[in-house]
Amino acid sequence: MLYLYYFILGTIFGSFLNVVIYRVPKKKSIILPRSYCPNCKNIIPFYRNIPLISFITLKGKCNNCKTSISSIYPLTEIIIGLIFLIVIYNFRGAELISFILVSSLLYVVSIIDYKYFIIPLEISFFILLSLLPNIIFSPNPLFYFYGFLVGLGYLLFIYIITWVITRKEPLGLGDFQLICLLGLWLGPLKILITIFLSACIGILYWILLYFVKGHEKNRKLPLGSFLSFSAIIVYLIQFI
Ligand SMILES: [Zn+2]
Repeated sequence: MLYLYYFILGTIFGSFLNVVIYRVPKKKSIILPRSYCPNCKNIIPFYRNIPLISFITLKGKCNNCKTSISSIYPLTEIIIGLIFLIVIYNFRGAELISFILVSSLLYVVSIIDYKYFIIPLEISFFILLSLLPNIIFSPNPLFYFYGFLVGLGYLLFIYIITWVITRKEPLGLGDFQLICLLGLWLGPLKILITIFLSACIGILYWILLYFVKGHEKNRKLPLGSFLSFSAIIVYLIQFI
C-alpha cells in the first residue's frame, strides 16, 4: 500500500513537472494561470486534472476542443512515479530528498533540451540547490568537489582540443553548466562514466538519424538529454 501511495505522489509531482516542461522554455509563469489546453486555452477543471486517470478517461483528447494531448504528459507522470518508487526502496534522509529533486529536474532538462536545444538557467540553479543536501550531510563533502573538478577538467580538455582543430566552441553554455553540476552530484568516477555513456548514446542516436532517417550530417544533438539520462542510470548503478 505504501508503494502505491509513493507512486501516486510521484505522478502528482510529475503532473507539476509537465507544467514546468511546457512553460519554462516559453518564459511563462509556472504558478498561474491554472492548467489549460495548449490548443483552445480552455482552463482544465481540477476534477479533470488527475494524473494518468484524466488522460485515460479523456482518451488522450482535450474535453473541449478534442485536440490530442501529447503522450509525453502521461509518460512524465509514470516515469516520476517510478522514480518515487525507486527512492523508497533505496534511499534515506538527505539523499532521498536530493535524489527525488535532482533526478526529476534532470528529467525536465532531458525533455526540454530534446525539444528546444536549451537548458534553462533557472533549472540548472534549482539542480544546484537540490544537490546541496547530499553534499552538506555527506561525511566526505570533498568527494563531490573532486567530481566538479573532474567535470571541469574534461570540459577544458574538450574545449582546447576542439578549438585547436576546428576553431569552434564544442559545447553550449547549458551543457557546460550541466557537466559541472553532474560532477557535483556524482563524484569523480561516475561523472566520467556518465560522459562516456552519454557520448555512446549520442553516437548511436546520430547513426540512427543519419543512416536510418536520412537527416543531415551536422544536425545538432540534444547532448543535455543524453547526459541527464546517463547520470540517473549511473547514479543508480550501485542498486541495479
Ligand atoms: Zn482544447
